[in-house]
Amino acid sequence: MSKRLFNFCAGPAALPEAVLQQAQQELLDWQGKGLSVMEMSHRSDEFVSVAETAEQDLRDLLAIPDNYKVLFLQGGASQQFAQIPLNLLPDGGMADYIDTGIWSAKAIEEASRFGNVNVAASAKGYDYFAIPGQNDWQLSAEAAYVHYTPNETIGGLEFSWIPDTGDTPLIADMSSTILSRPLDVSRYGMIYAGAQKNIGPSGLVVVIIREDLLGRARATCPTMLDYTVAARNASMYNTPPTFAWYLSGLIFQWLKQQGGLDAMQRINDAKQQTLYSAIDTSELYSNPISPVDRSWMNIPFRLADDRLDKPFLAGAEERGLLNLKGHRSVGGMRASIYNAVPQAAVDALVAYMAEFEQQHG
Ligand code: PMP
Repeated sequence: MSKRLFNFCAGPAALPEAVLQQAQQELLDWQGKGLSVMEMSHRSDEFVSVAETAEQDLRDLLAIPDNYKVLFLQGGASQQFAQIPLNLLPDGGMADYIDTGIWSAKAIEEASRFGNVNVAASAKGYDYFAIPGQNDWQLSAEAAYVHYTPNETIGGLEFSWIPDTGDTPLIADMSSTILSRPLDVSRYGMIYAGAQKNIGPSGLVVVIIREDLLGRARATCPTMLDYTVAARNASMYNTPPTFAWYLSGLIFQWLKQQGGLDAMQRINDAKQQTLYSAIDTSELYSNPISPVDRSWMNIPFRLADDRLDKPFLAGAEERGLLNLKGHRSVGGMRASIYNAVPQAAVDALVAYMAEFEQQHG
């Protein structure tokens, strides 16, 4: 019997049990080869086929056009905060950034070390509870690119629309929203995502970049951080995180078995509706985000009296509902309900919330 509990962690996050079981079965002896994926040369035919299959499955899921490269890199999404300007912001150039919360602020801070950053819009005026509409953005004509964070993992703020930046390449940090629903990749110059939420285990960051944006790195850009070098070497300029890549490939196959991203959209929509409606109809719980800008993947909520936080979390843990504590910077609760968190987990959480409210409301 499996003792797995419901895990609402923001990342590293829950992985599908079926995928973990497959990895367990293949751990000692991958497909009769007598060794595990972890022990194979990354240059071997076996691993190259694992890597190529994973890339193709991701391309299929997101319908990635042929003029985009898919890179499997290291350093997490945080390293991209520097890698993007090193590759795409010319010396003395300017880039537009949209500030919607803690993760976009980190991207802004890092990019500022490499050039001029114009914060073209900020959610600060709304206390980070709503996203400023594009009419209020001050984009600059000379920007090398526009960067934004479609889903703020900590604040729980998500774009339900894609900004229109004309000919200026749009770059998106999709760490906590990628693969949660279909995506029109052709609207972007570049998309990146740390793996440890909807893609796979940590240790990997996926970059999807339009080919015409390659070849622009600064002369001082370290070789390991140059997208063109990574693309030319099929993300194997050095030894890649092979096991994380393999496991991500299993997740992509699992997503295809679920019915792809149309199916995930239906499932995730139902999950978020269940949880937000439980919050909105209660007297005890609240979520401050403007309804049109609410995240599907990361749902923060507060209890009317924060002295109830501790007993709420203790009761949740007793019922096998793990990792509901909000980020240390904001407090309260946060339920991250990525692809691998089933409707049953959300139902169990909502039932517990009602029970707790009855006792303490
Ligand atoms: N961007 C977003 C939106 C995130 O949620 C996170 C991680 N929670 C990061 C960037 C940083 O990712 P990493 O830890 O992989 O550097």
